[in-house]
Amino acid sequence: MMILNFLRKIFGYFFDSPRPIISIQNLPTLSIVPEKKLVFPIWASQPDGIKSHKQGLPNVGNTCYLNALLQVLSSTPDFVQKLPSNSKICVSLSRVISWVQQKGRLSIFAEIKKLQLYLFQEFRMFNEHSENDPKELYLSLMGLLPDSSDFSIILYKKILCKLCHNFSNLEEPSLFCILKNPSKKEIEEKLKNLEEEKEYKGGNLLYCENCSANREMVMSTFGINIPNIFVFYIGNVLGKRAQGAYNFFYCGDKFELYGVICYYNSGCRHYIAYTLDNAEWMQYNDDHISYSSPDFEHAYMLFYKKT
Ligand SMILES: [Zn+2]
Repeated sequence: MMILNFLRKIFGYFFDSPRPIISIQNLPTLSIVPEKKLVFPIWASQPDGIKSHKQGLPNVGNTCYLNALLQVLSSTPDFVQKLPSNSKICVSLSRVISWVQQKGRLSIFAEIKKLQLYLFQEFRMFNEHSENDPKELYLSLMGLLPDSSDFSIILYKKILCKLCHNFSNLEEPSLFCILKNPSKKEIEEKLKNLEEEKEYKGGNLLYCENCSANREMVMSTFGINIPNIFVFYIGNVLGKRAQGAYNFFYCGDKFELYGVICYYNSGCRHYIAYTLDNAEWMQYNDDHISYSSPDFEHAYMLFYKKT
């Protein structure tokens, strides 16, 4: 357990960290807008000349983070098909995604308000008065799936004590790979590092339960679960951003970029999604849709799928 905690400290967000503990005191309450009072159109109008298979989502108050992520998840069949229907939050997510995919008719404004309430009830951190983060939401929504192995890089590792030769196995699941200054080179290096053998020595020892002391250890990877969906999160908010789209190969599989969430901060935060639709990039800025290549300089999350 101590080893596990130590590893969590080293890798932080790289591995699927526990949800932050949020105080539930003084949180504002949410309200649902009654559907009958709504005048929002059932179908959002699309600008002339736009032939998307999807439609934009209205911002019902600080929901750009939710709208942006749902646009990308609507283009992610692995998520849509695996989403269970055993809770209010999952049913509401399915309804909104169907609407985005132009498959369902409903009062979308009221449905997003409901979803906002269910997210708050389930996770506490997503309340309508906060500026929320699509990365945190992604982590939370993955927890709703009965099986998230399509989305998790799982490293199967062995940690060997160099003194007593006792070893223990460890599974390290991760929903993200963090990039600092995204480039094809950084992506390739990051993937290579996943499997690299690591030595703990000098001032960087690990605790051996067999020796009951800190020892020199070697950690090696003997297996890896390659997910269908590979998500990179760009951790260097103030630094350089991605310069373009990079597809990559990993363990013989080709991964292709199909979704990008961009982050803007000019006083208040704003998130915009881009998805690849029939080989053309579409921009979804809440309910505004346009043909546009991703603004890689503001990329925050990059979504790749195995092709
Ligand atoms: Zn030992």
